[in-house]
Amino acid sequence: MTGQAGSATSVALTATASCAAFRGQDELSSDDLKRAALAERVEWLAGIAAEVTRKLILEHFNDADIKRLGAGVGPDGRPLPAKGYAAMRRLGWTATSEVHCSDRVHRMGEEAAARLLRQADHRRQMVAGIIATWPKDPKRLTKQEWESLELVLPEGASKAEVRNRSRQVTAFVAAQGHLPQGLEELEDQPQVFPQVLLSACDRQAATLTRSTGSFVTLRVQLPKSSKPRSRQDWSWVSIPVRLPPTVPEAAELHTPTLRVRAGRVLVDLPFTVEAPVIPRAGHQVGLGLDWGINTFLVGALAKVVFDRGRRRVITDGIPLRFGASGAIAKWHNLRKEGEFLHRKISHLERLRGEWGPHPLDAKLALLRAHHQNLLARQRQLGHGIAWAAARWAVDQAICSGGTVIYVEDLATLEPALGRKVNARISASVRGQFQDALRHLGAKAGCAVVTVPARGTSSICPRCLRPLRHYTSPERLRSGHPWAHCSHCGLSTDRDHAAAQRICSRGLSSQPAVHQDPRTGHMAIRKSQDSQVARCRRRRPSLGPTTKPRTHPVPLRRRVLSPPAVVAVNGQRPEGGAPQARVTSAPGQDTTAQPSPTPPRHRPKWVPLGRGFHRNAHATPVVPRDDFGPKALGYA
Ligand SMILES: [Zn+2]
Repeated sequence: MTGQAGSATSVALTATASCAAFRGQDELSSDDLKRAALAERVEWLAGIAAEVTRKLILEHFNDADIKRLGAGVGPDGRPLPAKGYAAMRRLGWTATSEVHCSDRVHRMGEEAAARLLRQADHRRQMVAGIIATWPKDPKRLTKQEWESLELVLPEGASKAEVRNRSRQVTAFVAAQGHLPQGLEELEDQPQVFPQVLLSACDRQAATLTRSTGSFVTLRVQLPKSSKPRSRQDWSWVSIPVRLPPTVPEAAELHTPTLRVRAGRVLVDLPFTVEAPVIPRAGHQVGLGLDWGINTFLVGALAKVVFDRGRRRVITDGIPLRFGASGAIAKWHNLRKEGEFLHRKISHLERLRGEWGPHPLDAKLALLRAHHQNLLARQRQLGHGIAWAAARWAVDQAICSGGTVIYVEDLATLEPALGRKVNARISASVRGQFQDALRHLGAKAGCAVVTVPARGTSSICPRCLRPLRHYTSPERLRSGHPWAHCSHCGLSTDRDHAAAQRICSRGLSSQPAVHQDPRTGHMAIRKSQDSQVARCRRRRPSLGPTTKPRTHPVPLRRRVLSPPAVVAVNGQRPEGGAPQARVTSAPGQDTTAQPSPTPPRHRPKWVPLGRGFHRNAHATPVVPRDDFGPKALGYA
């Protein structure tokens, strides 16, 4: 989670660190609490707060009350406080617990209920708008019907949301035979997960102090039993929490939220750091990223130069690749297995019907637990892929002096290649990647700007004429991975051509960058294109015995020559396994002894690191020589 707010010179970035607590000390009895004992006491507190939340949700989860809270105006006409529990109290919505607990515990329960109701307000507005303008044929909306729907939808509603909510209403109509009255009838009450929202408390229930090094000490009042009867059943417990290295020394820490998962106390600790304001325009060096067909991400570095009195975009022609095909294949296996389990559960639920206790119940419970486990693993893997890719992309940009990263706008991606290719990376992983990129970019002082995706891979970056796509450079048959321009002779990887186009599109449209005042996200909606010139970097030293080439290789030979990197099995280097670098073409004798001369270039494709990162292969992040004319400028 990332948020932005701040003054003109600096911006406050808020993020949440995921920590865990393994022990505590009861301050009254000086007893050491081991992991299980601490988890049990936190669970009791979370249970008491969740009981209050459940009572409030049961009473107020209806369209009228959700609307009242969402409108943000109290009964006296004054605006409601931002804190959820305070807003609930202003409206007179309170619930009491049956056990002995302080007012702060009530506040936690009220805060959780207010958050659930405020989240439901957006859904309520969506459903109310869709029901009010329900068309005759929900599968085909006329232009007028779309326009009337857009007028009643809440701010920030996306087309995907409209589609999903419309499907929900269609399913309700098919089952019940009439339109629902509102959200209350369409949805079940939201599930209440036990959690300890310490942000709703003051110093009389919880304190947080930074102790030596990377530790903080959290002091919190915890019950001694699941049903405390008096004040004696509560005591202060101090809990040491180790901060992850991503929390800098100067960060401002906020009171955390505690949860218990699998016998462990999880501490979600929000913190704020100051970061410089990133300008929207005026960038000279940028990195363009394309969602690859061959690879997960392909990047191209480009810069703006003034050459003979005119502004030009130049690139060095080196593709930067990030591939995680092993992890993505695993992700898809989990997705397929999850879909299969979902179908099986639905089938068994139909067989079971609405009867009382049933022999299928035990099996259903097992399958549901398995399904939830699969979904959690899939989410975790997607999160890992997205953050590893974002870290790599930001490192590549700042290592080469880039101050801006351009990515395709997810909303404008065209599903041109059918379902099979589109399913390669899910929209959720792409969205997570963009969020991660924005967060890491903001910390590193690197802007992240989305550009329209239209036509990025169908037009030649060099001469802006249509490109043709082939299976490979040596077999010019119609296909996807390779791009060739018959006008200027450009022959390159399709994704690399698209990355160059994205970067030049972004660098040329800098005056048109729009920043959302609410989210701080930067986007180019109307873009202009410019040609990208290729400017080679200085050649690396070839050693004392090799003579530098004095004449250019004819274009025709360069276009049709086999690629320099060929995998052992003859496929292009998009695979998940580390790619062997074989410099000979397919068909030649690869069993010959390797040449004694050292490799001239750095490896192009290496594992990112240990653990999960062994599954990801990427172009190494190394400082490279500058390229292009020295007279840089952007005015
Ligand atoms: Zn061309």
